[in-house]
Amino acid sequence: MTSGEEFAQWISLLCEDEAFDAEVDRLGKEAVAELRRIYAEDGLLFGDDLRRRLLALRFAHAGRALRLVLSDFPHAVDWHIAPTVSMGEPARGGVVVHGWEVFGIGFQDTLVEIAAGIQADYIDEFWRVWPLCSGHRLGLKPDMRNGVGVWMCGSGPHEVARIGKTEGSRRR
Ligand SMILES: [Zn+2]
Repeated sequence: MTSGEEFAQWISLLCEDEAFDAEVDRLGKEAVAELRRIYAEDGLLFGDDLRRRLLALRFAHAGRALRLVLSDFPHAVDWHIAPTVSMGEPARGGVVVHGWEVFGIGFQDTLVEIAAGIQADYIDEFWRVWPLCSGHRLGLKPDMRNGVGVWMCGSGPHEVARIGKTEGSRRR
């Protein structure tokens, strides 16, 4: 069996592994690339070994994604939140950001997930929608477009900015 075939077989087996909580049929390009890297480095991981590897990856992504998302929200930076990860034995914990569990494997997936969670919490706390489309004064929604996490305006619809790069962003 070639390594390409073995990789494909591993992916198809993952849907039966309860340690793998992403949907195998809906893996994006970036997620597949991450899995390819795991396969190249550690071979065929299953069960708790796989779970630990995925959680470490998610945790690293979540920290970076959270900083980007927070830069799009005024005041939210004062929350001083940090992702947490619990890796119990067996490794059934998860990566949690401000109370929201993260499931993505690719960085952009994680970015969109965290943006949706932080936006919901922001609306709850400050009673206003953020970020806004400056043209339409409408609240934006995080979404994935061409493999990249962006803020979408419902009018059109059209893409306003990449997540972490809105006009009011603290890190342009
Ligand atoms: Zn708009």
